[in-house]
Amino acid sequence: MRCPFCGHEDTQVKDSRPNDDGASIRRRRVCAGCAQRFTTIERVQLRELVVIKADGRRVPFDRDKLMRSIRIALRKRPVQEERIERVVNGLVRQLEASGEPEIASKRIGELAMDALHDIDGVAYVRFASVYRDFHEIGEFSDILTDMQPEGVSERLPDRADPLD
Ligand SMILES: [Zn+2]
Repeated sequence: MRCPFCGHEDTQVKDSRPNDDGASIRRRRVCAGCAQRFTTIERVQLRELVVIKADGRRVPFDRDKLMRSIRIALRKRPVQEERIERVVNGLVRQLEASGEPEIASKRIGELAMDALHDIDGVAYVRFASVYRDFHEIGEFSDILTDMQPEGVSERLPDRADPLD
């Protein structure tokens, strides 16, 4: 690791400890050239996933966007936050395990629908009714925020999600 202060190529690790989330490691380093100290954070870098959108454009997979769509579909439903996290983690693992570097947004939507189907019927209907028309994961959150589908309208809040 090159020193960010002087560019010296030899830095020593003084201390390594896992962060509280257990998903990353913090290393304190000291430069052998200028003796400045700095910290690096190491985390697992899973394969970069690329999403092919309906119009053919390619964009980096955005976990937050997927999370937002799932969260909106499950809004006010009796599903715990922890479970939502698990669902999204499971979806990401599925995508990574597919072995494909590029994945159609349509496919991501289908996997998300399958996952929601197993958790909550209302969330599934919300997601699926939007999905069938739009086939575009990136637009889900915007559309789900606005829509008032028949049969589930009374369960939708009348104001926007603060997370949007
Ligand atoms: Zn240095």
